[in-house]
Formats: sequence, structure tokens, C-alpha cells
Amino acid sequence: MSSNISRRDFLKIGAAAAGSAAALGALKNVLSAQAAPEAATSVQTAAEQKVVASTCHLCSAGCGILVRVADGKAVKLEGNPMHPVNQGALCPKGQAAPELLYNPDRLTGPLKRDRATGETSPIQWEEAIQRVAQKLNDLRKAGHPEQAILMHGDTRGQMRSFLTRFMQAVGSPNIVSHESLNVAAAKMGMYLTQGIYDLPAYDIEKTNYILSFGANFLEAGSNPQRTISGYTYLRRGRATRGKVVVIDPRQGIHGAKADEWIPIKPGTDAALALGMANVIIKSGLVDADFVKNYSFGFDDIGKSKGFMNFVLENYDPAKVEQITGVPATTIARLAGEFASNKPALALLPGKGGLLNGGFGGVYAAMAV
Ligand code: SF4
Repeated sequence: MSSNISRRDFLKIGAAAAGSAAALGALKNVLSAQAAPEAATSVQTAAEQKVVASTCHLCSAGCGILVRVADGKAVKLEGNPMHPVNQGALCPKGQAAPELLYNPDRLTGPLKRDRATGETSPIQWEEAIQRVAQKLNDLRKAGHPEQAILMHGDTRGQMRSFLTRFMQAVGSPNIVSHESLNVAAAKMGMYLTQGIYDLPAYDIEKTNYILSFGANFLEAGSNPQRTISGYTYLRRGRATRGKVVVIDPRQGIHGAKADEWIPIKPGTDAALALGMANVIIKSGLVDADFVKNYSFGFDDIGKSKGFMNFVLENYDPAKVEQITGVPATTIARLAGEFASNKPALALLPGKGGLLNGGFGGVYAAMAV
């Protein structure tokens, strides 16, 4: 008979036993229910279940997901094994995505705050739109449309350009998103060095040597699932194990998991990169084809000093040691390893705008 006790029955007994002497009564009730099957309760199963393939939008990786839907509600996410980005894996944030959907504090409509009490109360969309339009008109009539600021979260499709155009129509340049504190600095570094306002995508699996300039790629990279699976393959999934070197004032998880962590004075990554470039040039390890075909300004142009002479004159490893705190011998060794373990990758900080990376980190990575 005991083998017929359902999980719910078992929990009833356990709860009663833990709480009081009523355990025996509970056990009696359960056993009598077993004796009369028509009265017994059973574990309830969802009436209707299906799996829907979709995409996780909680970061720019865009992992493929399989959503289990029970009785019309999304209850569980799994990685889609057919998706090229995550190949079946799913990071903890993606796993926890349903929490976001069902969070009791999630706002599902506009709220109005009472300035006197600070309390908020729900209002209809019509009223919210009316009030915002009125405020925007007031600012424009007063000649100060720039005092309107639009703040937004992540966007998809054409939404970002729509928001920008909307604020242009209002007359304000002030449009702020989380990107301002996130990847904007790194993107600007890319724009100034590569002419593209975006972050690069890396072919980590095919790399033999990764030099990370403050790129927190195992904790907060711009594409964590893709980066982590590439890193795993680099370290364990192929015949030649790739080497990972992390340059960062803070060790963090990526530094702890790297082959080597090089602590550095904050904000001096670019000097280190230029010191490495100095060694690479002096040692004759420069990739001449790459410099000729894909770079600009390596040699002097007229009276303007090119990158090579600028680096040779100003970034001797002994001087760079003073700036960065990284020993000159380490700088020389890193330069040799980087130049002779091709394909090597200097990793840009994806989300380092406030930390060691961002702007300077991008310049540093591009310098080597
Ligand atoms: S890495 Fe995580 S958060 Fe980003 S898209 Fe994939 S599952 Fe979602």
C-alpha cells in the first residue's frame, strides 16, 4: 500500500509529523484515502503543454530557447540545441527569465506618483499619454525642449531609431539608455579605431592565444553564452589547448580561470599594449602583410610620425613598467607569446565602460 502514496500525501504526512502529534491522525486520513481510491487526491498535471522555440532577449547574444508552456503560461526555458549561438546551453540569466515575467513587482501599466505622499497609483494609458504630451508641449512652448529626457531599456528592431527620431521631433538631444553606462565607451573606441560603432564578434574557438584587456568575458561579456562556450572549447575541446592571459587590476572570475592574470595599475592598459608593440617591432615579429593591407599610419607620413616610430621613441618596456606596474620582462614575454602564437586575439572589454576597459581598453587591444 505504501507504494501507492502520492508525493502530495507524503508531504502532508511530513508536514504534520514535523509540527505536532496530529501526525498519526494525518497518517490515518491518508491511509483511509488509499483504501478508498475514489476519494484520493493525485498530483495534478497540466492540462495542455507545448514547447515553443524562441529567442532570449536578455542580452545581445540572442540565444535560441525552447519555452515549455503549460496551460498557456511559460514555465521553463531550455537552450535550443539546434541554435548556432548557444547550441543547447543557457546561462543562469536565461534560465531565470520566467521570474522576470511573473515578478509581482513588474510594472504592467502606467503609474502616477503623488508628489505629496510619494505614493503611486495606476492610471489608464489614455491619461498617461495625455499628461506626457502636455508636459512636452509645455517645455516646447517655454523654449526648453532640451529639458525633456527620454530614458529607455533594451530595444529591438526599429525601436531605437524610432525613439531617436521622436526626440528629434520634440527638439531634445537627450536620449539615455543603459548602454551609456554599459558598452557605449567600448563602441566609441571601436568607432574611433575601426570606423564601426559596434562591438566585434570573436572566433574564439579558432584562437591559440587570448590576451584580455579588462574584458570580463566570463562574467559580463556582451555575448556571455557564446564566449563561455568558445572558451570551453578553447581549453578542453580541441587538440591544442589555447592560452588565456587576463590583464586587469581586479582578478575576478576571468582572471582566476585564466592561465595567467597580470595585475596592472588602473587605466594603463594602452601603455602596456604600446610597450608590447615596441617589443614586437624591435624583435621583427610584426605581421607585415597585415600592417600593409589592413592598417593605416604605421610608417611616417611626410612630417607626421607614424605608429612605429611613435612607439619606438616613447614606449620602451622599462618606461612602460613605471607606468603600468607590469615588469618589463613580463611585457617582453607577453609580446613574444602574442606575436608567435597565431591566430592570437586581443579581447576588447565588452562592458567595461566604468572599469578598466571601455575606451582605453579598445585602444589597447587595437594597438597590438
Ligand atoms: S547569454 Fe544568457 S541572457 Fe544572453 S541571450 Fe543567452 S541565455 Fe539570454
